Amino acid sequence: MDLYEYQGKHYFARFGIPTSPGGIAETVDEALTQAADAGYPVVVKAQVKVGGRGKAGGIKLANDPDEVREHAGAILGMDIKGHRVDRVWIEHASDIAHEYYASFTLDRSAKKHLCMVSAKGGVDIEEVAETDPGAIARIHIDPVDGISLDQTTALVAEAGLHPEAQAQAAELLVRLYACYVEGDCDLAEINPLILTTEGAVHALDAKVTLDDNAAFRHPEWAEFEGTEEVDEREVLAKEKGLNYIGLSGSVGIIANGAGLAMSTLDVVTRAGGSAANFLDIGGGANADVMAAALEVINSDEAVRSIFVNIFGGITRCEEVANGIVEAMSRVDLKSPIVLRLDGTNAEEGRSILAAHHSDRLIVEETMLAAAKTAVELAGGVK
Ligand code: GDP
Ligand code: MN
Repeated sequence: MDLYEYQGKHYFARFGIPTSPGGIAETVDEALTQAADAGYPVVVKAQVKVGGRGKAGGIKLANDPDEVREHAGAILGMDIKGHRVDRVWIEHASDIAHEYYASFTLDRSAKKHLCMVSAKGGVDIEEVAETDPGAIARIHIDPVDGISLDQTTALVAEAGLHPEAQAQAAELLVRLYACYVEGDCDLAEINPLILTTEGAVHALDAKVTLDDNAAFRHPEWAEFEGTEEVDEREVLAKEKGLNYIGLSGSVGIIANGAGLAMSTLDVVTRAGGSAANFLDIGGGANADVMAAALEVINSDEAVRSIFVNIFGGITRCEEVANGIVEAMSRVDLKSPIVLRLDGTNAEEGRSILAAHHSDRLIVEETMLAAAKTAVELAGGVK
């Protein structure tokens, strides 16, 4: 789960990582109250779970209440890369001397934690990694050993942080590591980490991704519930007990078995199309499950065709065929179905469906042929 910046900053605070005083606001009036508490000048910051808010106009400096009114009014409700801004974080503005980058994440191929620090902060770190990889100092940390102040001290020196920032930054990194490990983060990133003109080092931004698998030992994470940006399709699918993941394409996918569902995405891509979702209906594939799956896919505005890919093993194809016929009578479908049915009792299944063939239900012999037809019906190769 990704946290909003303000949640990330609260999380940091538990581990003694310094940030600017501030508060959250959902209205212009609340923003004014928070600004008065934080002390002018303040920064008005859009809370959305995407980077590059600054460039998108979602971060503005305000010197007085009139400017808070103006900026909070403009930013609340703004769309940033498809995310609507429902809240702004108001914090006391910092006087920046230098902007740095610091993060902890897992390097899966090294089987170790990775700490990265750069004196080139405040900009897109992926870009720094590409254009000036030498500007990023890295160390791998064995999770058994943990990290020491000696290591972080050497790292900030290697990264070339200002001498005045080094001791504070080294200590902050030890705390950030504690936050990352004890706080069960997949990512704890500060960009920018700043040195202020008064000589203090603190986090100006916070990007925290929590490891959902560790939720069982963090009852306090309950506070983040309800603030997640939800995919309505996934909510509906979950209610119906389906293994569904929303994607951005136009071909709806239904398959039995996770492996077959993955292969179905691949074959749709190979045919030049793009999948609207991943959906594994599992073993049963009876009328109830099929109707639920069709309903979820039908609710997706982007879907133009539905590719049902079933391989009968223990599942028998005549049951699947009956399930599809019944489900189609229950759900008023907006898109045509392209079906590939193979495996146990496939002939029987296809003969049941023969009576229902139309331009709304097309049966293909092979997976690739079905993918091509589904992609064509969805508007062709992109
Ligand atoms: P992002 O664009 O989504 O990564 O948002 P950030 O929180 O990183 O802010 C982007 C940029 O806004 C920073 O790199 C700073 O240059 C600027 N900024 C944010 N807060 C302050 C502040 O308190 N004072 C000043 N002077 N600039 C700020
Ligand atoms: Mn940032």
